Amino acid sequence: MAQTRTPDARLARLRGPVAPRRHNARTIAALTGNPGCDRRAVMDGAGVDKMRVAQHIGFPGRFGQSSFAIVRGNVFEARLKANDGAELVGLLGVEVPKYLDLSGGPKASNEERYARTLEALRDNPDTLLDHPMLRLAVAGKHVYLEPDLVAFQVDGRYHIVEIKSFPVIDEQADPGKVSAAATQAAVYVLALREALAEAGRDPETVSHEVLLVCPKDFSNTPISSMIDVRRQLAVLRRQLSRMAGIDALLDRLPDGITFDLRAGEDGEPTRDPAELIADVRAVSARYAPDCLATCELSFFCRDEARTATAVLGRSVREELGGIEDVRTVLALATGAIEPTPEQAEAAALLRAAHRLRAELVP
Ligand code: SF4
Repeated sequence: MAQTRTPDARLARLRGPVAPRRHNARTIAALTGNPGCDRRAVMDGAGVDKMRVAQHIGFPGRFGQSSFAIVRGNVFEARLKANDGAELVGLLGVEVPKYLDLSGGPKASNEERYARTLEALRDNPDTLLDHPMLRLAVAGKHVYLEPDLVAFQVDGRYHIVEIKSFPVIDEQADPGKVSAAATQAAVYVLALREALAEAGRDPETVSHEVLLVCPKDFSNTPISSMIDVRRQLAVLRRQLSRMAGIDALLDRLPDGITFDLRAGEDGEPTRDPAELIADVRAVSARYAPDCLATCELSFFCRDEARTATAVLGRSVREELGGIEDVRTVLALATGAIEPTPEQAEAAALLRAAHRLRAELVP
């Protein structure tokens, strides 16, 4: 049946009468964690509080930065930016003629700060810009990004600087954290390119190389390195365009589902958890172990997928060439069922593996 409601109205109905959860660079970066998952795209597009959904259906997760990491990050960043960014400028090893703080005071609205940022980009091309306000469209809505970053220009190109509090020990950093920082920096690169285009300047002057600044060893001494975020930019663009076309995803949903979390007098959601689970399940998901690091619903989806080959990781799922259920895999391996023509190749490998295992483990 043809849908007559606008995408906005359809997303608002999915969310129910509660304020949408606001995105930031971290949550936009997390969207790229599993770009093929409809459940995540729909719930994030509607601004559903997935953490609260997970709690209400009995699968609360441990998610987000620890308060210790946040405090440590704030202290490190404040030190780098003190005295008009003197330590940061020293680290960059470039001449930066001017430092401009664009935070605009506690009363400045996002729109005012965005306008000031556009003005600064037009009028002060060689300036170290602290706290610029940027924005990106997610599912047709502007999300304002309040970066804790600065951008600077060298040889006519802007570079994003991403300040992180995880340490670089013996010149090595946690690869997972570096990868997450690169994706987050890619969000800022994209947003800065859009702001430059709006300011009437060439968006391609924003480099795909970003400067990552972290504490060295166990001290607060900064160390920096350039990282290339072209791959992250490509994934991000794909996911944002998928969310811009959210209509097509909404068309596939059954009528009447909702993730309404309106609270009762006790402040808790009034929705029957079993009904909410049924509605969450009505949107298809693509669980993979990476979800545990990037999505609030991961414990629920892992439980739902426990008999699915996907839970064993992407490479296993791909090796098994479309056999979705672990029980089918076991039955094919032991010869308990006959494979279909599409399963024949995987079934032969599974039977060989089963034979070898039986010989080695009596
Ligand atoms: S945890 Fe679930 S909803 Fe989130 S991305 Fe993974 S499969 Fe999708």
